[in-house]
Amino acid sequence: MKLSVVIPAFNEEENIRHLYDELKAVLRASDYSHEILFIDDGSSDNTLSILHDIQEMDASVFVISFRRNFGQTAAMSAGFDFAEGDVIVTMDADLQNDPHDIPELIRKIEEGYDVVTGWRHDRKDAFINRKLPSIVANKLISWTTGVSLHDYGCTLKAFRKEVIKNIKLYGEMHRFIPAIASGMGISFTEIKVNHRPRRFGSSKYGISRTIRVVLDLLTVKFLLSYSTRPIQVFGLLGFISGAIGFIIALVMTAQRQFFGIPLGDRPLLLLSILLIFIGIQFVSIGLIAELQARTYHETQQKPVYFVRKLSGRGAGDKAETDE
Ligand code: UDP
Ligand code: MG
Repeated sequence: MKLSVVIPAFNEEENIRHLYDELKAVLRASDYSHEILFIDDGSSDNTLSILHDIQEMDASVFVISFRRNFGQTAAMSAGFDFAEGDVIVTMDADLQNDPHDIPELIRKIEEGYDVVTGWRHDRKDAFINRKLPSIVANKLISWTTGVSLHDYGCTLKAFRKEVIKNIKLYGEMHRFIPAIASGMGISFTEIKVNHRPRRFGSSKYGISRTIRVVLDLLTVKFLLSYSTRPIQVFGLLGFISGAIGFIIALVMTAQRQFFGIPLGDRPLLLLSILLIFIGIQFVSIGLIAELQARTYHETQQKPVYFVRKLSGRGAGDKAETDE
């Protein structure tokens, strides 16, 4: 079994070397073959030249350097694209994750889990702008996705190759990989990991990340539940809205026809027209989304199902998800 460690780094010049030394010691002590993928996310400091120095000394290191800063999620995607290992481990470059937790992650993968995530049970970050939003976000994500984890934000995670190669990441979505993966029917678990305060450099995020994460959550929820059947969401909303509008209009028409109640000065008339219009629009959006869903799945040859294993036809057992 080969291990790929994926590490996005953006302006981490003081951390990189310490991280490499510590990580390398851990990997050497384990008996897996390994590679370390550093992704320089358009750093403006010496991160890249330090990475190149390390790479020259160690053939197991692979450096991907971005033309500009594309963000942590993009950096992780690049790492996944280039990783050659059977198991992929992700971690931060700022020494906040402890490489000594990696063997435990791998043990869980060997037990049969497809995804193992770290839980920073004793997180060493500021309370107000880090831990508090994270507690709220974790509850929210667990509740909406139905995947119960204590800590989505922890970058220290391990994945089987098949899981990662089938997931496309956008926005701030790297934290939702377990939730997306669970939609594919994948098994996951969580272990407590060590977390350390940032010693060098500064955090790359502010409080605005919370909002972006919540917006991404909306997308993930939609994709998980309805990406193959959007009409069922929009159509239902449209139907409810349209039906209420229609009933109001019907009642008012009857009142006008049979009881001579004037129609022109009734605000309810506007409401009923509005509801009918919204209803029609929702249904139309649903139909357009159905077309989109077909384009989405078919252009990417993305099946609407996920196979664990195929057996028979004399070709031996073959995991469909293997690329
Ligand atoms: N990072 C990155 N690109 C970015 C922002 C961050 O590659 O645009 C990397 C950063 O170098 C670090 C990891 O993502 O390795 C986590 O960032 P940070 O420590 O700033 O986040 P925090 O721990 O404060 O949540
Ligand atoms: Mg950090």
